[in-house]
Amino acid sequence: MDPQRTIRRAISCAGIGLHSGRKVTLSLKPAPQDAGIRFRRTDLGGIEIPATVANVGGISYATALARSEGTVETVEHLLAALVSSGIDNVLIELNTPEVPIMDGSAAPFIYLIQEAGIRRLPAARRYLKVLRPITLSRGDKRIALYPSDHFKVTYSISFDHPLLRHQARTMRITEESFVEDIAAARTFCFLKEVEMLRQNGLALGGSLDNAIVIGETGVLNSALRFEDEFVRHKILDVIGDLALVGCPIIGHVVAHRGGHALHTAFASRILEESDAWRLVEAPTAGIHAAPQPVSVAVRTAPASN
Ligand SMILES: [Zn+2]
Repeated sequence: MDPQRTIRRAISCAGIGLHSGRKVTLSLKPAPQDAGIRFRRTDLGGIEIPATVANVGGISYATALARSEGTVETVEHLLAALVSSGIDNVLIELNTPEVPIMDGSAAPFIYLIQEAGIRRLPAARRYLKVLRPITLSRGDKRIALYPSDHFKVTYSISFDHPLLRHQARTMRITEESFVEDIAAARTFCFLKEVEMLRQNGLALGGSLDNAIVIGETGVLNSALRFEDEFVRHKILDVIGDLALVGCPIIGHVVAHRGGHALHTAFASRILEESDAWRLVEAPTAGIHAAPQPVSVAVRTAPASN
């Protein structure tokens, strides 16, 4: 079996919220097996918000979770770093509603997790192994999940902009490939969107230090980190959003022109189509050994505090 994991010790960082512009302190703390990934608002009496599709709140330009009076926003890059590092259980404390944007990528969160270290727990990890395709389309946006022996993502984007017409990439996602090829890819926006975002009270903390800004003749930042940094960031986003299904996926995600609304709706669709997958205890099940079906339900509803 693969053991569940948490972090070895508590660790903190400070930053600002991309959309709110507010200062925030983020702490990651070890959590017991089967606790899952949970946010806690320390400024709201410790309200806990499990990172599950049941708690998806408003989606605008970032993914938000909400439960009773508590909300947390812009969770996707941190969730991508956690699940790609194999962290099943962790308590994430915030003193404002928004996860800090850091440099607009998941790399600073990978650094935090590596500094905190990994602790293996006695219980087995459960994977969601895809048995038949699951699909969701909205207009020209579409996303699907197909059977595969590994967790893979294919993403394609296309925009009506001379600098960013079309990018596509397929990757097998492992701890190593995420760190090497995806974690450092930054969020991006078009210069012509920035004023509209700000008028709507969004991107108030945005700057060239935490987002790629695409102008009419080039990116305003000094350099890109990857030639196809944009599509790599979309892969990062979909990994973070699909973390809301509550356990790692063994399957091939194929997405075209998606965004947070489509990704999180798809996370719900996956859990609804429960005959399209089963929970198994080892990622290689079906290759070297018969899959071990397990009867425990994926966490779709928040556990009591
Ligand atoms: Zn993003």
